[in-house]
Amino acid sequence: RREYSGKQIVVVGAGRTGLALSAYFRERGAAVTLSDSRSAERIGDLEPLRRLGVALDLGGHSETLFSSADLVAISPGVPLSVPAVAAAAERGIPVLGEIEVAWAELEAPLAAITGTNGKSTTTSVMGEIFQGWGKKTFVGGNLGTPLIEAAVQGDWQWLVAELSSFQLEAIRDFRPRYALLLNITEDHLDRYPDMAAYVAAKARIFENQTEADVAVLNAEDALALEAAAGCRARRVLFSSDKALPEGMGYEAGEIVWRWQGREWRFAVSQLKLKGLHNVENVMAAMIPPLLEGCPPELAWRAACGFGGLAHRMVPVRTLEGVTWYNDSKGTNVGSVVKSLAGLSAPVTLIAGGKDKGGDYGALAELVREKVAHLVLIGQAAERIASVLGGLTHTLRCASLQEAVLKARELTPPGGAVLLSPGCSSFDMFTSFEERGEVFTRAVLALSEQKVV
Ligand code: ADP
Repeated sequence: RREYSGKQIVVVGAGRTGLALSAYFRERGAAVTLSDSRSAERIGDLEPLRRLGVALDLGGHSETLFSSADLVAISPGVPLSVPAVAAAAERGIPVLGEIEVAWAELEAPLAAITGTNGKSTTTSVMGEIFQGWGKKTFVGGNLGTPLIEAAVQGDWQWLVAELSSFQLEAIRDFRPRYALLLNITEDHLDRYPDMAAYVAAKARIFENQTEADVAVLNAEDALALEAAAGCRARRVLFSSDKALPEGMGYEAGEIVWRWQGREWRFAVSQLKLKGLHNVENVMAAMIPPLLEGCPPELAWRAACGFGGLAHRMVPVRTLEGVTWYNDSKGTNVGSVVKSLAGLSAPVTLIAGGKDKGGDYGALAELVREKVAHLVLIGQAAERIASVLGGLTHTLRCASLQEAVLKARELTPPGGAVLLSPGCSSFDMFTSFEERGEVFTRAVLALSEQKVV
């Protein structure tokens, strides 16, 4: 446990996590100032902070405040490159992320999940398994409840936390018992100088692990294996390509778990989750509970019961023989690839949003094969059109609602319309959730009769 009593702490970011961090430090007797680049009006209700006795530094970051702090604690969305934060680090002031702060407080064992795609699904499935096994389990992190809230409410037997690469940039001693790296494909190249920097951020999940810990790795992902090269933890692998001599594998429609000379097989047709990428997520999610002694049949039953998360390939409606899918969480090229791969032609793909610098060329083959119409929205429309526009009928729309109307006109019975943007949402929406809701509402509002 770290001592915070009497310390001057600056918490950066006035969202849910910043509020929870402030409350946590106040409870431990620190003097807390909450700093946010946004002005008070844009943040909303500050009353809970005032009640906690938290001082405010809004509409920018005061360098003098930061340079006199004992500790700077940052929320997940705050880059280390914010000048006041970078200057504090330069002066030798500890700059810690929320998960580092939370981890130091928490006593229950932790399974931490990172990767480019599949984090939320894997985190949720693992949470279901531990809970189904009767363990009082916290499920959250980058998804839902921030880890620091677990530190405040306590009394957990297991902690299952999704971590983003940004969160991993601000750790120091953070050491999960299980570190899962699901996969690495291009993402966030707007925030990292290159792929190597993105891989290095992900690799930090293993940094403090010892031989007593476990690294769960994708045997088929060269970049993820490379990221784990220096890791000291015991490795347990999963593969969606073959059965492995030891570990989790997949063969002829069955997940094969081989461990200490024994073998179990599970038919993936029993899963509610669909697609080979979800088989990977389920395999990875099962490993920690199984190594902890959870009966395999029980783990499997819990995994089969999980129906998927909102905004990930959710069938919204079938209208005039066309099925509409909301995959607003398809925020990078790799996830669009997986989502498209699961559908049959002809697909009308609605894509675009805030560009993250990914290589849309990775979609070329699938677009040629399956996408009859490519409907583009948002800032990235131009760049996507320049790469994929020549391969299929392509058009641009000014809004998502207009894209929905166009998609309806264009898609023949038997086809599918897929919203899977391959981009983040922040050019037109506040979040991928809002984007998915706008899409869902627009689709549900389509009248039964086509207006000619
Ligand atoms: P994350 O939390 O990492 O963004 P999610 O579980 O929310 O991941 O899934 C987001 C999207 O990523 C899914 O709709 C799917 O298209 C894709 N995806 C999910 N799991 C995987 C995986 N294991 N490998 C590649 N793509 C995946």
